[in-house]
Amino acid sequence: MLNLYNTLSKSKDEFKSINPGKVGMYTCGPTVYGYLHIGNIRAYLLSDTVRRYLEYIGYEVRLIKNITDVGHLTDDDVAQGDSGEDKMLKAAEREKKTPEEIARFYEEYFRQTEKEMNIIPAHFFPRATAHIPQMIKIIEGLLEKGYAYEKNGNVFFDVTKFEDYGKLSGNTLENLKIGARIEEHPDKKNAWDFALWIKAPEQHLMKWESPWSIGYPGWHIECSAMSTEYLGNTIDIHTGGEDNIFPHQEAEIAQTECYTGQKFVNFWIHTRHLLVDGKKMSKSKGNLFTLEDIKEKGFSAMDLRLLFLSSHYRSQTNFSWDSLEQAHTNIQKINDFILNLEAVASRTNITNLEQINTNVFLEKFEAAMNDDLNTPLALAAVYEIITEVNKKIDNETLSSSDAKKILMLWKKINSVFGLILSGQAEIPEEIKLLVKQRQEARNGKDFKKSDDLRALIEKHGFILEDTKDGQKIRLAS
Ligand code: AMP
Ligand code: ZN
Repeated sequence: MLNLYNTLSKSKDEFKSINPGKVGMYTCGPTVYGYLHIGNIRAYLLSDTVRRYLEYIGYEVRLIKNITDVGHLTDDDVAQGDSGEDKMLKAAEREKKTPEEIARFYEEYFRQTEKEMNIIPAHFFPRATAHIPQMIKIIEGLLEKGYAYEKNGNVFFDVTKFEDYGKLSGNTLENLKIGARIEEHPDKKNAWDFALWIKAPEQHLMKWESPWSIGYPGWHIECSAMSTEYLGNTIDIHTGGEDNIFPHQEAEIAQTECYTGQKFVNFWIHTRHLLVDGKKMSKSKGNLFTLEDIKEKGFSAMDLRLLFLSSHYRSQTNFSWDSLEQAHTNIQKINDFILNLEAVASRTNITNLEQINTNVFLEKFEAAMNDDLNTPLALAAVYEIITEVNKKIDNETLSSSDAKKILMLWKKINSVFGLILSGQAEIPEEIKLLVKQRQEARNGKDFKKSDDLRALIEKHGFILEDTKDGQKIRLAS
């Protein structure tokens, strides 16, 4: 039984899908105006882990992750989509490119980073700019039903009309009255009304025709348009980073539920922030690291993946190079373990040895994951197997059938962790050829040639080991 912490109910609830065996899932995707940073990666890794574990327990998941290429304003964290500059336009000015060039460039970077992180691609990555008609349709519906109003070509959602406003974030209108606000838009009735459509100034680059003005949509409406378009009115799971909760997703709920008259999302799942020196890592603060920064320091995408899996998604995590170093050591430990198991598995079976009960470990892994995706505890189960089995490998009491059994267990567990181990990486054909030539050199006792070939193989980033079971080749991690 899978229990997930639901930001909406503020408790761990048993997960049940709307349609048996199927899950509709939506993840707030990147605003493609700058390089994805590792804080963003943490948010997408959470979405990936949710999806992988649901698939592990037998669900068929459909995941939609949007691309925000319009409408996200610089003041959106504090205002209601009615002040600040469009982040895309600002980047276009900075880089002297069109907003479209900016969007495509950073979207490509995002897709590439997800690939390197071994995040399984969403089934679809809809772009906000390709869904303006759907957004207009929802805004029209909200106007018709009296939840929105238009003034001077701008359209706002009237938060006083939705009595559940604040149910996700706790920012009810009562609570919000106290907070300080930045300058209000003159066309608004209430301070907390948020923009659905904004009339564009003459020189504005990204604008579309609408019944109200030539303008552009507010940031929040895109997620309502794209989730209902691809997943229907009510979805099982919606994920994001904790900063998405307010105002963005609070607004998503208000406008979608008022438009459809149905519950928008059953489970809201959020990752807490990745911090640097105690502050949120963010593009706007400029205190960010990208995957390139990580690799430049000699670490790999998988070191980062393991680092994130090593802390619970609901704990705020401070990024440090020391913790990444620890993750790197742990990846190597797992890698060596798998290589050793493969070596034992390929030997002739010795049947009279004690059998390992792998179910005990699998139960621990599943119990941890079922408890709100407790990946650090699930990893602890893996480290436990490693310690126990390594002892048996050292004193040669591990049978090859047990080694095979544990390899199968790892494969199963790793379908959730998604770690690509260097020992299991694809070895290119030209490297395989060098390994073969080196074997021939060794057979012919040409040790000089054998050493030269080893040096050449290592220069290509591979590690070659001579074991009693022959040459073993793997990618240097
Ligand atoms: P953005 O491109 O700014 O819209 O952010 C994309 C995703 O990354 C959103 O789900 C954010 O909530 C998430 N995010 C941004 N910064 C962090 C951070 N420091 N830690 C975790 N998630 C983050
Ligand atoms: Zn969203």
